Amino acid sequence: SLEMRKIQKWYGGLHVVRDFDLYVEPGEFVTFLGPSGSGKTTALKMIAGFEPPNGGDMLLGSRSIVDVPPYERGIGMVFQNYALFPHMTVAENVAFPLKVRRVARGEIEQKVLRALGLVKMVEYRGRYPNELSGGQQQRIALARAIVFDPSLLLMDEPLGALDRNLREHMKIELMRIQKELNITVIFVTHDQDEALVMSDRIAVINEGKLVQVADAKSLYYRPQDRFVASFVGESN
Ligand code: ATP
Repeated sequence: SLEMRKIQKWYGGLHVVRDFDLYVEPGEFVTFLGPSGSGKTTALKMIAGFEPPNGGDMLLGSRSIVDVPPYERGIGMVFQNYALFPHMTVAENVAFPLKVRRVARGEIEQKVLRALGLVKMVEYRGRYPNELSGGQQQRIALARAIVFDPSLLLMDEPLGALDRNLREHMKIELMRIQKELNITVIFVTHDQDEALVMSDRIAVINEGKLVQVADAKSLYYRPQDRFVASFVGESN
């Protein structure tokens, strides 16, 4: 589980994340949905450990993580620009988080194959990133994010760079993988359809505030205010 307690972030005089209170259950798929500049990425960066909050506390399970360095938090991450290492093969890319954690070689091989199996990319293990399509690269980024069995997976607009057909396909694949691993996910998007289809609950964010946290049906039929009604109801 992840718990955010009164989390704050200021950039100079700009209050970017205001009083985030959120509890995410183990195995839950929660989406941060909001317009550009609303603070979604900043909130994710604080969970990942790349930005320190200016106030509040965050717990992963029962442990406070605000003072834990990013790579010791046990959190997997996937971003829009896949950021695979270009000079490494697919297998080496996926093995990287395990090498950093000094996992034994035999175990690395086994975990890499399992992760590649999950994203259906085992045959591509000897290729280099520039020999893969965008969708394939995104699968590898996902395999690399889950290979060390993280307790939480963060995804920031992971489908944003894909064309429409591929995006539809990857949506379904992501949901399958999340169910198979039963992993806790926080997913960031400004795309209403993506949020409504994929999430157990959606956290609607506007101007740094969590406006409403609810499942798709409740947001749609019982929006908290005008912003939620118009933003969630919007279709693209
Ligand atoms: P998008 O969907 O466009 O990525 P977002 O909801 O993820 O937007 P953030 O990237 O979290 O929004 O940005 C929230 C606000 O904080 C914006 O006004 C942005 O300009 C500001 N901001 C983000 N990072 C910094 C920074 N390092 N220094 C100063 N201001 C920042």
